[in-house]
Amino acid sequence: MRRAQKKAEIANVTVCPDCGAPAESHRACKKCGMYRGRKVLTIKTEE
Ligand SMILES: [Zn+2]
Repeated sequence: MRRAQKKAEIANVTVCPDCGAPAESHRACKKCGMYRGRKVLTIKTEE
């Protein structure tokens, strides 16, 4: 018997605790580069 399987590819989106922007969980925030309290990405914020 074939079971219908819906592949769930919905990324877990959380809110970055640092800047409040929506960010994927287990991923560095694309806005501020923070991940789990550490800055892991270098993002230019100066304009
Ligand atoms: Zn952020």
